[in-house]
Formats: sequence, structure tokens, C-alpha cells
Amino acid sequence: MKPAPFAYAKAASLNEAIGLLGEKPDAKLLAGGQSLIATLNMRLSAPSLLIDINGLDELRGIRRKDGMIEIGAMTRHVEAERSKDIVDHAPLIAKAMPHIGHPAIRNRGTMGGSVAFADPAAELPACFLALGGEAELAGPKGKRTVKADDFFKGLFETALGPQDVLTAIRIPAADNNTRIGFAELSRRLGDYAIVGLAATAKADGKGLSDVRLAFFGVGTTPARAAKAEAALNGAADDKSIAAAVAQLELNPVDDVQATGATKKHLAGVLLKRVVAQLKEAR
Ligand SMILES: Cc1cc2nc3c(=O)[nH]c(=O)nc-3n(C[C@H](O)[C@H](O)[C@H](O)COP(=O)(O)OP(=O)(O)OC[C@H]3O[C@@H](n4cnc5c(N)ncnc54)[C@H](O)[C@@H]3O)c2cc1C
Repeated sequence: MKPAPFAYAKAASLNEAIGLLGEKPDAKLLAGGQSLIATLNMRLSAPSLLIDINGLDELRGIRRKDGMIEIGAMTRHVEAERSKDIVDHAPLIAKAMPHIGHPAIRNRGTMGGSVAFADPAAELPACFLALGGEAELAGPKGKRTVKADDFFKGLFETALGPQDVLTAIRIPAADNNTRIGFAELSRRLGDYAIVGLAATAKADGKGLSDVRLAFFGVGTTPARAAKAEAALNGAADDKSIAAAVAQLELNPVDDVQATGATKKHLAGVLLKRVVAQLKEAR
């Protein structure tokens, strides 16, 4: 199928992109186009204007800043995948990157596009949530910061307003005590997950603390599991792992990939695998 007719504008500045969003309420930003163009071609969306932000170099790049790693929204997946800063200071993201689509998609797809699109089965939104990151948004009233815990509102719905541009995400830089875990089940490597789990914790000598679990593919948004997190803080031994699995407060619904009951069972399987990773030294 071909997309419905649309107008195209290449923004020369962030302010111009924000201004253009204000002129056409149904306009869409065009980043890597890997999700947007597919929805246009399938006529799942028909914006009257596409605002291309690929020329905005200020939205690109990976920087260390005040104990955080800042990833510009227009940084391509492949740039993150090959970044030493990501390997050294954002190992959860490094571990997740190979699961995102295929090399051709990662060559064009952007880090900000993935987080802004907020597919509930996508890897990066879950990593962003597990890492307790923050998003920088720019709109007509200037810039503001939104915590990952407050960013995902519903199915493909985020804290981004109609005239907002996601400019960057920031995540705490890993230190020697940072522990990470990532696992997903998909039909083939590169497919969206049937169920996945991104997790972080701190090693405190006796066990784990600050455990954060972010499941994906189990609902309308990436989902934390507070009771399971609480059960794992401490020794994270077999008894606490069994308690965490028993207390997983997830209610996935049936979809084309699996029934809700199967997904819930698989979430427990992944939790055990990921806790084993959290307990390993980096
Ligand atoms: C065959 C295939 C397989 C894929 N498999 C996976 C997978 O396994 N896992 C996965 O996570 N993803 C997968 N993807 C999606 C891919 O990761 C996309 O690149 C990503 O979801 C969107 O990034 P993009 O830069 O292409 O955004 P676009 O497609 O350009 O935009 C997506 C949406 O986000 C909005 N947007 C983009 N950037 C911004 C911004 N800076 N501020 C505000 N809004 C913005 C756009 O307006 C649009 O609504 C797959 C895609 C394809 C085609």
C-alpha cells in the first residue's frame, strides 16, 4: 500500500520544528522513519505534514554529564551499539541493542524515536524505565524534564504533548556496584519480544538493593513490578526469587504471539534468568 498524501518540511532548527508542530495539529516528526513510515504505508496514520528532524545535529550524540549518560534523541541505534561510552557506562543498553530489529533498522532508527514511539514490546523504553532515566522535552514554553517513571502513560501514549520534541534521554552512569540483567523471548532474534525484562540493581556486599524490574510485551506500557522488586532486595536467594515470581503483579492480555497466561508464565521464567545476571559481578 502507499501512504495517503502528505506535505513535507525539513526543520532547520529545533524551534522551527516546534513551530511547525503548532501549525498542523496532526503533524508528525520524522526521525529514523522505521516505525512511522510503516504506519503511513499501512494507513494506520495519515498526518497531513511530516516534519523531518534529521538535520538537527544538536539532537545527536552521546555525552557523559554530571554522573549521567546523555543520549541525543537523533542518535542512531547503530551509534549507540558501537559507542564505548555505552559499553562502559550504560551496559544495560549495550546488552539490549542487538535485540532491536536488524542492522538495516538500527542504521536508521533513532534512540529518541524508540522512546517517543513507546511500543510496549520494545526494548529501549523498558531499559529507560529500568535505569530510572529522565527525558528532556522541548516545547513552545521551553525545555522540561520528565522522569522515566512518569513518561509512559498508555498504549503509544507518553508525556510528550502535541508540540513537544524529545531532545535527549539521560540515564545514571553505571559504577562498579551497578548490576544489570536483560532477557527476552522472541520468535527470532530481532523480532519484537513476546515477553522481555530489563533490570538494574546495586550490589551492596550482602546482596542486592535498589532492584528495578521493567517488563515489556506484557501490557500497554513497559511495566515495573514493585512487589517482586521488594522481594529481591536483600539476599536474592532461591526463597526470595520464588517469592518474587509468586508476587509478579502482571496481567498480560492475549495477543497474536501468546495468551496472557503464557506470557505471565514466561515473565516468571525470565525473572529467574535475569536475577542470576543481577547477581554476577560486572
Ligand atoms: C522490521 C522492523 C523490525 C523492528 N523491530 C524492532 C524491535 O525488535 N524492537 C524495537 O524496539 N523496535 C523495532 N523496530 C522499530 C525501530 O526500533 C524504530 O526505529 C523505532 O521504534 C522508532 O525510531 P525511529 O527513529 O525510526 O522513529 P520514527 O519512525 O521516525 O518515529 C516514530 C514515532 O515517534 C515520533 N518521534 C520520533 N522522534 C521523536 C522525537 N525526537 N520527539 C518526539 N517524537 C518523536 C514520530 O513522530 C513517530 O510518531 C522495528 C522496525 C522495523 C521496520
